[in-house]
Amino acid sequence: MAGDFAALCANEPELAALRASVRSFLDADRAEFGWTPGVDAWLSCWDERFSARLGAAGFLGMTIPREYGGQGRGHLHRYVVTEELLAAGAPVAAHWIADRQVAPGLLAYGSEEQRRRLLPEIAAGRYFSAIGMSEPQAGSDLAASAAKAVRADGGWVLSGTKVWTSGAHLAHQIVVLARTSPMDPQRRHAGFSQFIVPTGRSIPGSLRSCPPEITPGSLRSCPPGPGITISPIVLMSGEHHFNEVTFDEVFVEDANVLGEIGAGWHQVTAELSFERSGPERILTTAPLLTALLRALAAQDELDDHAAAAVGDLLARLISLRQLSVSVARALAGGQSPVNQAALVKDLGTRFEQESVELAADLFAYVAADNPGRDRLAALLDAGRLHSPLFTLRGGTNEVLRGVVARGMGLR
Ligand SMILES: Cc1cc2nc3c(=O)[nH]c(=O)nc-3n(C[C@H](O)[C@H](O)[C@H](O)COP(=O)(O)OP(=O)(O)OC[C@H]3O[C@@H](n4cnc5c(N)ncnc54)[C@H](O)[C@@H]3O)c2cc1C
Repeated sequence: MAGDFAALCANEPELAALRASVRSFLDADRAEFGWTPGVDAWLSCWDERFSARLGAAGFLGMTIPREYGGQGRGHLHRYVVTEELLAAGAPVAAHWIADRQVAPGLLAYGSEEQRRRLLPEIAAGRYFSAIGMSEPQAGSDLAASAAKAVRADGGWVLSGTKVWTSGAHLAHQIVVLARTSPMDPQRRHAGFSQFIVPTGRSIPGSLRSCPPEITPGSLRSCPPGPGITISPIVLMSGEHHFNEVTFDEVFVEDANVLGEIGAGWHQVTAELSFERSGPERILTTAPLLTALLRALAAQDELDDHAAAAVGDLLARLISLRQLSVSVARALAGGQSPVNQAALVKDLGTRFEQESVELAADLFAYVAADNPGRDRLAALLDAGRLHSPLFTLRGGTNEVLRGVVARGMGLR
């Protein structure tokens, strides 16, 4: 029985040692460089110097083989590192997409030349990527994507518009999904391909720092390459994370086709299980919860209602974590746990949203002279602002429930 729980906690001796080393790296790095833990840090806390330090410390590219500059370790090792980064609210946004889903995509489908060119930079935390899938008329129904690439001498000519493209204004490349054959209504998922489109930012370039208090929008974006227009979509708080990106007859050389022409749908679907299954679907608000618990612990007494609410919150978090670890174990075992990942994302992101509401309720118990009150208030503001996004990104929860129903043979 104890063994079963150990498996669910991802705390075997090797993983526990790794966890301890990430924690001490984070403590020392924070003490030296003074970053502030952020809510939703994997979207909003972009700090390229932090990413480079993380890479230099050997905590990036965990599943990238050593021959391509990575750590050559397993999914559970990556899970442990990711979990610690999120729990600390570390500024991880710059490298997040490249490390999480572009690297596995390159390993599965990339050419040898692409792997040698891109993976060592990703593992070093010096190369950042955006993902261009969604379009104004194609979000949940990605098969309705209209961006297209037409064959040309030595490559493809890409045209179309992508939207909600996180970090495109700061990234070195965008991985774009586009039609390479006309839509066939009988086979809507056929005829897609993936392209690696450089944005015009040089590698490695100078590194930009963006502590959580400073929004990425305050950084100057690099001028995009010919034919590419990157227009900001700004949150009502003024934060700039995502963009609309227009490709107007952009030439993409053959060397930047990712995988097989026509296999784009299969490749993108495989990428999504990496995107949906990680601890970022339960720990986005972890710094808020930690600040809340610390502030409440400093109060003289809590009434039964507050104590029960905290207990309920932690019980749910622990159960969700065990579900999430079980998905990571399935990935580590070479399985493709699409339905389980969808379930964890649905339950986990709803938990994240509810944790913000609960923190808002329990804030009433934090006295005006509590030393953690101001920090808690700032994290709560960030949580309120970002929580509507939690259940949308990576596929909306409603759509994921359809995926689960289909997986159970119900639709
Ligand atoms: C923070 C954030 C970051 C993002 N980053 C990126 C990125 O980097 N790259 C990228 O390509 N995209 C990105 N997205 C886009 C995201 O993937 C889409 O928002 C999402 O897939 C939903 O698409 P949509 O916004 O067009 O909504 P729609 O598809 O128009 O859906 C609208 C509503 O209808 C519901 N709905 C739609 N179809 C069904 C159905 N079949 N059954 C039940 N309900 C349904 C949805 O649940 C939703 O509530 C990001 C989104 C967010 C919020």
